[in-house]
Amino acid sequence: MQAFADLNRLADAAEQQLAPLFAKVDANCRLQTQKVLAAFAANRVSDAHFAGTTGYGYDDLGREVTERVAAQIFGGEAALFRHSFASGTHALTVMLMGVLRPGMRMVCVTGTPYDTLHTLLGIGQKGRGQGNFLDYQIQYDQLELLADGSVDINAAAREAKTADAIYIQRSRGYAQRPTVCVNQLEAVVQAVKAANPHCLVLVDNCYCEFIEEKTPLEVGADLMAGSLIKNPGGGMARCGGYIIGRKELVELCAYRLTAPGVGGEVGCTLGETRELLKGLLFAPSVTASALKTAMFAAALFQAMGFEASPKWDEPRGDIIQMLYLKTPRRLVAFCKGVQAASPVDAFATPEPAPMPGYDCPVVMAAGAFTQGSSIELSADAPLRAPYTVYLQGGLTYDLGYLGILSAAKACLALPKEDATC
Ligand SMILES: *Cc1c(COP(=O)(O)O)cnc(C)c1O
Repeated sequence: MQAFADLNRLADAAEQQLAPLFAKVDANCRLQTQKVLAAFAANRVSDAHFAGTTGYGYDDLGREVTERVAAQIFGGEAALFRHSFASGTHALTVMLMGVLRPGMRMVCVTGTPYDTLHTLLGIGQKGRGQGNFLDYQIQYDQLELLADGSVDINAAAREAKTADAIYIQRSRGYAQRPTVCVNQLEAVVQAVKAANPHCLVLVDNCYCEFIEEKTPLEVGADLMAGSLIKNPGGGMARCGGYIIGRKELVELCAYRLTAPGVGGEVGCTLGETRELLKGLLFAPSVTASALKTAMFAAALFQAMGFEASPKWDEPRGDIIQMLYLKTPRRLVAFCKGVQAASPVDAFATPEPAPMPGYDCPVVMAAGAFTQGSSIELSADAPLRAPYTVYLQGGLTYDLGYLGILSAAKACLALPKEDATC
């Protein structure tokens, strides 16, 4: 690993190296912002929409316009885009339980899904009795990814013949595999629909919004869901999630979200609409900042002698960056460095601690305005080999840059046996 004094030189070199890639990120951000602005104009977003409702929230104009705007931006016919989703997991649960019925079969074609979904899906007999897939006799099956980390498209098409839904998790989450980019998603959708036009394609789109030009819905997916304390909330939404896609399917999800016969016509907004719309407007730019932060982290830490995934110049479909830091002490130092450069709780010192669902202690840095927000710069790492830190977010690129630099400094300040690779 390089000496302390070299760090600024390495950071400068990393940024120079990244300049052409940053220009591409900026160009996409401009395009996405245009899309958002056009949707605001077409749906006549106006001051009156910011007034919240209470109680049932009947005829909440702000909620209605926000959902039309979100549907247009992401190329869907209809949307549920609401602060009242408790989390991304909640939105995904409503999506799946909204459209699947007893006796149906869903096949995930991207390997083991994100941890928080295991209980819903009944993986390893988890969650029986909690009203999950097992209780409702919805069959869950899973296809592993190919050795190169891509979807086994032939196997997916074969499964689709007898499946009611194919499930695709795009982001790597906390797994060591590449993101499912829109091009690959399109190939999967085409193969699935050719094998069985009635088979639904349901997408976990967390962390992937505004990264690529097209959305899953624009290449034929039926529904997608995600979290508003990630990319599409723009760091502004205080909570929430979304489901967007085909109208009749979104309506089924609405019946599940509230009640049969009621659907999306209720749901007061309590004054959250301004933040949701403002967040959508900021989201392309905030996502671009998070993307640049991830690229800078990869470039700097690769220059320092560490492995990164994705590498600094590899294509990206989400905002997650993995860095292999090789020792537990360096993981902790990295998180302390990120925390110390956070706008909130900079004085706090992250320490490894046991976490539900993990078989080893986890250390995390999260100096965020919104609890658990991962569009704000955050890092977390289970303390087990190969000592990987997962980092994401950055409300502005400068905040991200400073956070990464602080983390690098903390790593370099370790005693000699840890400071060398
Ligand atoms: C964040 C995330 C979820 C949902 O997580 P919540 O913490 O419930 O918001 C689901 N899948 C993936 C891939 C995610 O990144």
